[in-house]
Amino acid sequence: MSLTLSVDGERWRAHLRAVAAANPGLVPVAKGNGYGFTVGRLARKAQWLHDQGLHDPTAGAPTLAVGTYDELEHVAHRFDGDLLVLAPWRPFGVGLEVDPALADRVVHTVGRLGDLADLLDRQPDARIVLERMTSMKRHGFSAPDLWAASRMLTDRPGARVEGVAMHLPLAQGSHLSEVHRLMNDVVAAELDTRTLWVSHLTGTELTALRTAYADYTIRPRVGTSLWLGDRGALRVESTVLDVHAVERGETYGYRGRGAPKSGHLLVVSGGTAHGIGLEAPTGDHSMKARAATLARGGLDAVGFVRSPFSIDGKLRLFAEPPHMQASMLFLPHGARVPEVGEEVEVRVRFTTTAFDAVRIS
Ligand SMILES: *Cc1c(COP(=O)(O)O)cnc(C)c1O
Repeated sequence: MSLTLSVDGERWRAHLRAVAAANPGLVPVAKGNGYGFTVGRLARKAQWLHDQGLHDPTAGAPTLAVGTYDELEHVAHRFDGDLLVLAPWRPFGVGLEVDPALADRVVHTVGRLGDLADLLDRQPDARIVLERMTSMKRHGFSAPDLWAASRMLTDRPGARVEGVAMHLPLAQGSHLSEVHRLMNDVVAAELDTRTLWVSHLTGTELTALRTAYADYTIRPRVGTSLWLGDRGALRVESTVLDVHAVERGETYGYRGRGAPKSGHLLVVSGGTAHGIGLEAPTGDHSMKARAATLARGGLDAVGFVRSPFSIDGKLRLFAEPPHMQASMLFLPHGARVPEVGEEVEVRVRFTTTAFDAVRIS
């Protein structure tokens, strides 16, 4: 009954090791649904990765990044290094309730002057990363505010500034000119830190940055290309739970629809509760892309929508919208009919899928 993420363990671990070896100071990111693995499992894997001895101590303390303060409790006992919270600290919410036992391991991200003052009033020796706003325009200090933060920090000698962070957009070409521009602001701020935390830079961009700012420690925060970087090591499996032959006109499903032609209904595991949607994931969600999907035959002649379930290498059609934990597919007459119990491959977006099980060989 399960939707399973099945991992070729040897290949996956080799990939994780290769990424860590190529990225001194790597900060694995474990957040949200843990990229399909759960954050707890990723925290254990980050510890395993650290235990491989690949970490270069001159590249900073071993650190795992989580997305939110809520996630700290899932990782803190599984990874024993520092814990960077990517969501900015605010004077409300769970960030105010960090377990005092973790206070020394948690590194807060701060992006507003008022928050900086407030956090240091509450915890004068807080460990902080100052986030510089990028073209993402999500969070962070403007250049003048970063300079003001630097001045504020001269009066707060207890504060432990662990670096400056930049969250860059997903690459549409090179980030380097933007990073150089932002680095000018960082250098001008004359902060008492030489660590830069960055996201979404390529290997080439990181190398260029390390050369240009040789006195800085560059720490790449990486999620997707670490955990999901070798897709060939990952396979999503559903199971055929039932098979029924239908004649043209025969009714089926929640909506009592009549089969538009003869064939087979397949009930397979995996539904809305797992994050299986009506659309096969393409990564491109613009209206234009959706229209193109439909035009290309996402909808077949009788109005079925293409599903993410693939049988014999072919994506099959939904017979009706996915149910909570199972989906109904339509197999036209003439196609090979799989047996109950047979495994079906599914294409999913890992960051939006809740697997029943993760099996790592
Ligand atoms: C999620 C996140 C990352 C990691 O992003 P990936 O695309 O999964 O590598 C890095 N930095 C920040 C601030 C994030 O929120």
